[in-house]
This record gives sequence, structure tokens and C-alpha cells, in this order.
Amino acid sequence: MIGVFTYVSRPATIVFGEGKSSDVGAWLERLGVRRALVLSTPHQEADAVALAATLDGRSAGVFPRATMHTPVSVTEQATADVARLDADCVVSLGGGSTTGLGKAIALRTDLIQVVVPTTYAGSEVTDILGQTDAGEKTTVRDPRILPELVIYDPDLTLGLPAAMSVVSGLNAMAHAAEGLYAKDRNPITSMMAVEGLRAMRDGLPRIVAEPRDRAARSDALYGAWLCGTVLGSVAMALHHKICHTLGGSFDTPHAETHAVMLPHTVAFNEAVAADQLAPAAALFGGKFGAGLWDFATSLSAPASLRDLGLSEADLDRASEIAARDAYPNPRPFDRKAIRSLLQEAWEGQRPR
Ligand code: NAD
Repeated sequence: MIGVFTYVSRPATIVFGEGKSSDVGAWLERLGVRRALVLSTPHQEADAVALAATLDGRSAGVFPRATMHTPVSVTEQATADVARLDADCVVSLGGGSTTGLGKAIALRTDLIQVVVPTTYAGSEVTDILGQTDAGEKTTVRDPRILPELVIYDPDLTLGLPAAMSVVSGLNAMAHAAEGLYAKDRNPITSMMAVEGLRAMRDGLPRIVAEPRDRAARSDALYGAWLCGTVLGSVAMALHHKICHTLGGSFDTPHAETHAVMLPHTVAFNEAVAADQLAPAAALFGGKFGAGLWDFATSLSAPASLRDLGLSEADLDRASEIAARDAYPNPRPFDRKAIRSLLQEAWEGQRPR
């Protein structure tokens, strides 16, 4: 039975396809943009400079200092550049860190945001911003944060190393997995979640076999869009809370943390949400949590929190922080349940 639901579609334009990043200039013209500031990490500065050169005189310059966790100090420097250069748009070229900087600028200035994603994180289609100030990470939701235009060009992901592609893909799959049992899910988000998981299941092994396989890159980026849209549409649960805790308080790497935790949190919730997860379980051999573990292991993803530098002694404090606030999750949990889940993930066992 379909039941009762509310579906809110987000007002963004999505352009998808090989070579489409060469259309950024034409899109800026259509949007009425005169001077776009192109953002990137230091690592992707050359790509950002090359993109700025294609903007038909609509580039205000490049700000190549986007940083993981969106520190407010960097946002303030970039926002000062926006004013100094009289920019009326930001173009974010990169992964979640660069997109985060564009969102942080837009929150403060309401400038138009164009995002050209080069990982599978999915931030470009959400109205969520995580930013850090004095070592503390806070999350904001605001309509100004949602980028107006996203141009997905699989060609730009050809250079994303296979190992990073795998963990980034598993990060995307986590959005879809939790979307399937979200308390505010609806038939559209569930359909997107299953299709996103299928696209990742089909794409990632082919990327590992041949990182420059264009069709595989296209599948994975399409999956990233779908999974990210689910993240932007419905409430996440225990898995995202645990990953936020580990990243925020123990500085574990973002995508890798999702990759390690996902089979364990899914198996934990599968015990009570098997019906909602059934279409996803069917894609992964019948049991979703265990199937995800087999899938991630076959792609040589990091398997344990121990591998990410977390000590066993950290697990007590991590479970305490993750259990502190109440939030929706299909299966009730307490500190002890999280502690034993973390132990399993720390040891890297296959979920039972
Ligand atoms: P990232 O953006 O930090 O990128 C990691 C590194 O890979 C960077 O040095 C980057 O320049 C490089 N890189 C990116 N694309 C590349 C490519 N195609 N080829 C070679 N190198 C490339 O990593 P991420 O996992 O995409 O993003 C993580 C951040 O995004 C975290 O801060 C996380 O909190 C945030 N995030 C936010 C949301 C949201 O909705 N707010 C969603 C997902 C992730």
C-alpha cells in the first residue's frame, strides 16, 4: 500500500552528460551572471583556472583554498574576495569540500551557485551546510544553501582515483540506504534510492577494473545525483549520526568513515526495517547489510575503524556522544547498542 506522504521537489536545474562542463559559460549567460568566482581546493586549482578560462569573459577569478569541513575562517576570506571582485555568482568545481565553501558563501550573500561535482558525495543537491568554527562542526539548513544549477560531467571524474571513487560511492550509497527507512520517505525518494544503489552497484566494480571506463563513470555519477537527492529530501538516521560523530569529534576521514560504518548500521536497522530495505537487499544478494560488506570488501574499501586510526579506547566516548541526542531511527538504540556496533566496525567483522 502506498499510504500517506508529502513530496517536496527542490527547485534546482540538473544538467548531465559527457562534456557538459564546457557549457558552464553558456549557462552563466542564461542565468544573467556577469562575474563568477570559481572555487576549488588547492589540489584542483589548475582545473579551476582552466574552467575559468572557458567562461567567455564571465570569470571574476579563482579562489583555490576550499578546505575539508568548511572552516568559517576560509569562508570569510572567500566572501571578502567576492566583495572585492564584485562577483555575482560562485562556480564550485570539486567534491563536497568545495561545494561546502560555495554553500557557505551563498548562505551569507545569497549569490547564485553553480556546482560542477567531481566526486560522488552528493552535497550539490542538498540545502545542508556543515561548517566548523573553533574546532566545532555545526549543521545549517536554509533555502539559500541549495545550489541553483548542477552540471554533472562524468569526464571530470575520470581522474578520481579508484580507491577514492569506491569510498565516495559508498558515501553516496549511505544516503540512499538511510532514505529507504527515513521516517519522512515517500515513493519518489524510495524509487530514487533504489535506482541510485543499482547504478552504484553496477558502476563501482567497473571503475575499479578500469578507472577510465566512461560508461561506468557515467553510471556512478548518475547514482551520486540520485543518492544525493535522497539526502536532500528526507531525514537521515543512526548511520549519519555516527559518521558525523566520528568525523566531527575524532577527525576520521569523511567518505572512508561512511564506507566502513555502512554495512554495520544497515544490518542493525535491517533487523526491524527488512520490508523497507527489501528492494535494496535484492540488489545485494538477499541481505542488505551483509551484502554491502561483501560488495565493499570486493572493491578493497577500508573495512575497519581501526584502519582509519581510531583507537579501541575512543569507542566508549564515541558511543556516548552518538547516543546523547534523540533522533529518529527505525530501531530503538541506546549507548550500549552503539558501543557494540562500533566494536564490530572497529574490528571489521562481517555483520551477522
Ligand atoms: P573532498 O571534496 O574533500 O575531496 C577530497 C580531495 O579529493 C580533495 O583534495 C579534492 O580536491 C580531491 N578531488 C576531488 N575530485 C577529484 C577528482 N575528480 N580527481 C582528483 N582529485 C579530486 O571530498 P568529498 O568526500 O567529496 O567531500 C567531503 C566533504 O563534503 C565533507 O566535509 C562532508 O561533510 C561534505 N559533505 C556535505 C554534504 C551536505 O549535504 N552538506 C554531503 C556530503 C558530503
